[in-house]
Amino acid sequence: MQLDLLHNQIKQCVACGLCKGRTNVVPGEGPERPRIMFIGEGPGFHEDKHGRPFIGPAGKFLDELLATINLKRDEVYITNIIKCRPPQNRDPLPEEVQQCRSWLEQQIELLAPELIVTLGRHSMARFFPGQTIGKIHGKFADINGQRVFAMYHPAAALHQQKLRDTLIEDMKKIPEALVREDQQTTAEARPEQLSMF
Ligand code: URA
Repeated sequence: MQLDLLHNQIKQCVACGLCKGRTNVVPGEGPERPRIMFIGEGPGFHEDKHGRPFIGPAGKFLDELLATINLKRDEVYITNIIKCRPPQNRDPLPEEVQQCRSWLEQQIELLAPELIVTLGRHSMARFFPGQTIGKIHGKFADINGQRVFAMYHPAAALHQQKLRDTLIEDMKKIPEALVREDQQTTAEARPEQLSMF
């Protein structure tokens, strides 16, 4: 599978200094044809230990959020802006994001998701440079033909009920976008079908 090949390449990456402190690279996980791709910031302690994205407390909340729209984590693809854990979970440095950029680009190209959901401001900045998350979260945008939706990071909401509610509200909008996409596809398909007669 092409996705396995790409994951294996990512696991061997030594492009930046983060490779020295990591236990495991965390390429991402999910199906090869996902409708939705979630992009977080970078692996934390648990993710680094096991080589899987969003499996710590923030990941548990992400699972809960997915459940509110009847999705299971194995139905979506989950990855991060950077694939290796920064020391003490510090913010990723611009050069680390830059070195990791082509991995994310290859993932997006291969998986071709209908919708990209960014989690947190670092992931948001990749698609909406210069924007603030308070302004753009919960709104759909089309960026060079790719539909993108920005959400707060689930970790930020762990101890803030108000943000929790905002994340739940934003998550609820996702199925509408996919349903609309379905209708569009059906509408687009119809003239072709009719023209056969
Ligand atoms: N936070 C992230 O941004 N990504 C993870 O994989 C885990 C926590």
